[in-house]
Amino acid sequence: MEIKVVFDKETINERLHIGWGLSVLIDNKILFDTGEKGEWLLQNMGAMGINPDDIESVIISHDHWDHTGGLESLLRAKKKKTIVYICSGFSEKLKELITSCGGEPVEVKKFQEIGKNIYTTGEIPGTYKGASMPEQAVVLKTENGLSVITGCAHPGILEILGEVRKQFKKEQLFFVMGGFHLLEKDTGEIAFIVDRFKTMKVEKAGPCHCSGPEAEKIFAKEYGENFVMVKAGKIVSI
Ligand SMILES: [Zn+2]
Ligand SMILES: [Zn+2]
Repeated sequence: MEIKVVFDKETINERLHIGWGLSVLIDNKILFDTGEKGEWLLQNMGAMGINPDDIESVIISHDHWDHTGGLESLLRAKKKKTIVYICSGFSEKLKELITSCGGEPVEVKKFQEIGKNIYTTGEIPGTYKGASMPEQAVVLKTENGLSVITGCAHPGILEILGEVRKQFKKEQLFFVMGGFHLLEKDTGEIAFIVDRFKTMKVEKAGPCHCSGPEAEKIFAKEYGENFVMVKAGKIVSI
């Protein structure tokens, strides 16, 4: 299976827009998050040879502008009605936007398979600046084990991995990537999280987006050749 990074804060291809937010294409058919801006999302997809009509469904990790920003333009660019997996705790405004752009919002409450070997964790409670911010993450199962993609990890990256563990008791955690939201954490807290990754036997790690420079540095040092540099334009085989 392949994970294509469509949008993030850095890129390996100077033709691609970069900015705040995340967008990742899974298995050439499911788009996880849509970055901060529709025009940039569509242009990056074009530059990467991704046709909007090939996207069968969209998963929105959580209701923050840097993950929903490109959704309207994408849905309008598509000919067919597209399922958008959201959490029931997302705003009515977002649900209405999806419907008005020709999308079909599907509220995910619990862990479920949404494509062959592609799962959503379902809604995990989280907070952002004191307010509720529910979030879902994606789990991909391949012969290498499980790969987990997070949006901002507002519920906590370790809590998300704990939820994944509840569903998959035995499988190896192969790769964990996405926003880990460690920008405000100090070195000690980040070191603890990296340590927990090692205890959970996470083989490869790819912190990006809101993980923060300090966390990326510590993960890079501790993971060595198993650190995956996640940047727009990059394709990760899992
Ligand atoms: Zn974010
Ligand atoms: Zn966020």
